[in-house]
Amino acid sequence: MELLKRKIEKEGTVLSDEVLKVDAFLNHQIDPELMLAVGEAFASLFGSEGITKIVTIESSGIAPAVMAGLKLGVPVVFARKRQSLTLTDNLLTASVYSFTKKTESTIAISASHLSKNDNVLVIDDFLANGQAAKGLISIIEQAGAKAAGIGIVIEKSFQNGRKELDGLGIRVESLVRIASLEGGKVTFLQEVRS
Ligand code: 5GP
Repeated sequence: MELLKRKIEKEGTVLSDEVLKVDAFLNHQIDPELMLAVGEAFASLFGSEGITKIVTIESSGIAPAVMAGLKLGVPVVFARKRQSLTLTDNLLTASVYSFTKKTESTIAISASHLSKNDNVLVIDDFLANGQAAKGLISIIEQAGAKAAGIGIVIEKSFQNGRKELDGLGIRVESLVRIASLEGGKVTFLQEVRS
């Protein structure tokens, strides 16, 4: 997605060889026009998959997931990372190791928002080692629903996540793929199209 690549080049900051900061348009301040374009891109990739629901994880997955939900015409459920007094009934949970926080946490979705008839698209902002996406897929499976695909805004292809998710046999689509962050520079993966 060229628009997203240009935005990353212009407004992203490479914090280390492994971490890209995109607080200017995705993780803190949000660019609604860009998020709408992101939602349209996911809708065109997964539009023929019969998606009935989108699942993401708070907080940075919510903006792209809501725009994809708008364009696909389906509801969006986000997994909570923190305990909430209102989130009490019949919780489906998974343990997720956070790449950026270096801590393990429990994510939860109420079983009332997922059913065995759901065909679910997982959306997240970044793919690093695939732990967040795998946690969401575990919750979808606990509900007896089907994980129909995974949509990632920014994939860091030099980390293990893509390989982990490909191993699950679920379709994975990333809007941009980063080959390297070495030397403080973002290098995109050159996609070979046949
Ligand atoms: P994974 O679960 O694939 O190891 O890591 C993905 C999660 O970690 C995403 O939900 C995202 O919030 C966070 N993350 C991973 N790498 C980066 C990064 O380079 N920059 C930012 N801003 N977040 C990241």
